[in-house]
Amino acid sequence: THHQDQTSIYFYQDDLARVIRREEIILQTLRRVIRREDTQSFFLYFQPKIHLERKNIVGFEALARLNSDSLDPSFVSPTEFISIAEKNYIIYDLGLIIIEHACHFHYQLVERGYAEARVAINISGLQLLRDEFEEDLIKIIATTGANPNYIVLEITESVLINNFERINDKLERLKSFGLSIDLDDFGTGFSSFSSIAELNIDRVKLDQTFINNITRIDDSTALASNLIAMCHKVGLEVIAEGVENEAQLGYLERHKCDIIQGYFFSKPLSVEDALIYIDRN
Ligand code: C2E
Ligand code: MG
Ligand code: MG
Ligand code: MG
Repeated sequence: THHQDQTSIYFYQDDLARVIRREEIILQTLRRVIRREDTQSFFLYFQPKIHLERKNIVGFEALARLNSDSLDPSFVSPTEFISIAEKNYIIYDLGLIIIEHACHFHYQLVERGYAEARVAINISGLQLLRDEFEEDLIKIIATTGANPNYIVLEITESVLINNFERINDKLERLKSFGLSIDLDDFGTGFSSFSSIAELNIDRVKLDQTFINNITRIDDSTALASNLIAMCHKVGLEVIAEGVENEAQLGYLERHKCDIIQGYFFSKPLSVEDALIYIDRN
């Protein structure tokens, strides 16, 4: 609709109404997904992670996708729908669906002969904080036939604020089941180096912003090398995310980054394409 003869406030109201309407449709869609009434709109994509020295695929990160014809545009970014799910207290149930899909993909990898490829699942703080989380997770792992030794949880620093001890104990228990833990978006949050050393994690994922800074020949301008060295000092493997070009790759090789993820190797792929990718590499 056009409001050529009205003041801009009407445009804003119109935009706001559209945003609210879109959010409502997203929420309805997610609710149907959780009730398993909609098996089309929601799915996972998988992005390969490559070991820099060994040049093999060590695993994939599961990235949630929402694409519904009842929305225009039909594609919804996960940052958008995950925050809608969080605000409306359905992230826990949506998270269980995500875990189920990811474990199923892991099972497909095993069947295909890639029993040692890890599948990493992003876990929202609100999921991790729930008391039932461990029990529900273990149940899904058991029923899907997944091997917990190859399931990775990606958590962010924000969940640790005010909950360090409690979350750290939970991580320890999760690790005792065989799961491994990656700290996602490392460097953007509140963690100090002393707390990282105490945290029950296996790897850190250097945030993309550090990788974006690596563009010049001059290595000294980038912080990433110091972060990599500090993580290694406390026995943590380092994953670089958002690696897009040769210059970044060269830098990360020189500074002994362990694992690389980014468009340079592959964008996130559908299940079908991820299986083709691993067959070819
Ligand atoms: P994240 O976990 O840090 O995921 C990395 C994001 O970077 C993904 O965006 C990925 O597609 C993108 N990416 C990977 N390589 C490159 C690259 O080379 N260049 C650039 N520019 N981007 C790259 P995506 O899929 O849009 O996901 C965004 C965020 O949404 C994720 O950040 C994560 O925080 C959240 N998210 C995605 N899936 C899930 C999920 O299943 N559960 C939860 N709780 N959060 C999720
Ligand atoms: Mg992640
Ligand atoms: Mg990340
Ligand atoms: Mg990120």
